[in-house]
Amino acid sequence: MIPFDLVVVGGGAAGFMTAVTAAENGVKRIIILEGSAKLMEKVRISGGGRCNVTNASWIPNELAENYPRGGIKLLESFNRFAAGDVFDWFEKRGLKLKIEDDNRVFPISDSSLDVISCLKKNAIIKGVEISTKFFVKEIFKTPDNFFNLINSEKDSIIAKNIVLSTGGHPSGHKLAKSIGHSIVKTVPSLFTFTTKESKLNECSGVSIKNIDLEIQLNNKSFKNRGDLLITHWGFSGPAVLKLSSIAARELFEQKYKCKLIIKWSDLEYEELKEKINNLKLNNGKLNLINLRPLPVLTKRLWLFLLNKMKINKDKKWADLLANEREIMINSLLKDKYMIFSKGPFGEEFVTSGGVSINEVDFKSMESLICPGLFFSGEILNVDGITGGFNFQHCWTSGWLAGKAVSKLFIK
Ligand SMILES: Cc1cc2nc3c(=O)[nH]c(=O)nc-3n(C[C@H](O)[C@H](O)[C@H](O)COP(=O)(O)OP(=O)(O)OC[C@H]3O[C@@H](n4cnc5c(N)ncnc54)[C@H](O)[C@@H]3O)c2cc1C
Repeated sequence: MIPFDLVVVGGGAAGFMTAVTAAENGVKRIIILEGSAKLMEKVRISGGGRCNVTNASWIPNELAENYPRGGIKLLESFNRFAAGDVFDWFEKRGLKLKIEDDNRVFPISDSSLDVISCLKKNAIIKGVEISTKFFVKEIFKTPDNFFNLINSEKDSIIAKNIVLSTGGHPSGHKLAKSIGHSIVKTVPSLFTFTTKESKLNECSGVSIKNIDLEIQLNNKSFKNRGDLLITHWGFSGPAVLKLSSIAARELFEQKYKCKLIIKWSDLEYEELKEKINNLKLNNGKLNLINLRPLPVLTKRLWLFLLNKMKINKDKKWADLLANEREIMINSLLKDKYMIFSKGPFGEEFVTSGGVSINEVDFKSMESLICPGLFFSGEILNVDGITGGFNFQHCWTSGWLAGKAVSKLFIK
């Protein structure tokens, strides 16, 4: 059996970027082994079917700040291939991209299928072989220093080099462990929060821009500012997803039980007190429900908050008692909710944890334990917040691994 120059395990975003880069840089016999029947399935469903390819965060240092796990190691990678390089890479291969107001990058067509066809087309043009339903179960080193990959049916493939690009799937972690790598326990990241707060579901669909959020758990506090969405089960939106990512490990340990504090107003205590006193003075004849103290509060949200504060919505502003005013100020500055679980099953966007980053050279993505073994994508203990950062890591690590393998074949 003639060994492949490169076998990529996993036909997702990272696996395809690795294979295309290696092929374009002269590596001849390459095969992608995909365990399922479908290629790049996560790319297809990503970004609500639009695929948020990357983020227009062009400066490597700033880009690296968007990864709660990955840290300084990612900087070594991003200094070689960052978001701007990804943008050019796809455009040069015919995928036109656009930058939205919040810096997220999407295909101009708004279709993730175009990202898939770009990667697939470029792999095929360069002669990359693709085998689906080839689920790699075991990997051995042969006496002559090749890799032997065996699937569920006991078929075997021999390779000079391999790249593990199996995403957050436990089988990839098992394979890496069997070769000597340590695995940081995996926990979900990027999820929504569930609360039992009565009647909050009546605000379902309300979205508020630029809100300060804080979660408190186990004597620790995590803060974030961003857009919030109220759902019929609790809270979602970029600010919540980011908080879930920053505190992914602690939330897992506390079984997703924490206190969420929402600051509905940018004003501080004295300023808000003055504002409410002015409303009492100048608009005293109006009912509370008919005059909202803050522009961010929609009518539905204001009604919900008044009920939560146990203040009669039909009361006139002039009749607001001093103790009610204090309750209102407190609620608007520190509105508390008990979170008791993460959102519905299957909603997690990424896995936090994976192959330990200290055992991988982030300039080449080669294993520091086993020469000839490389990693790309989510299999590593790297994960980013929402906004295209998780795919960015797939493209960067895939490109570096592909390049590094190609250098092994330069005579
Ligand atoms: C709903 C959803 C939306 C998302 N939207 C975005 C977004 O818009 N932007 C963004 O940046 N990120 C997004 N993400 C995250 C992003 O999709 C992932 O970070 C990314 O797909 C990881 O790519 P990967 O190639 O490392 O792994 P995967 O995409 O998981 O690919 C790994 C592949 O390996 C295969 N495999 C696993 N084990 C084996 C084995 N033993 N043998 C053979 N094959 C195997 C799997 O079947 C799979 O096809 C989203 C995720 C989800 C779930």
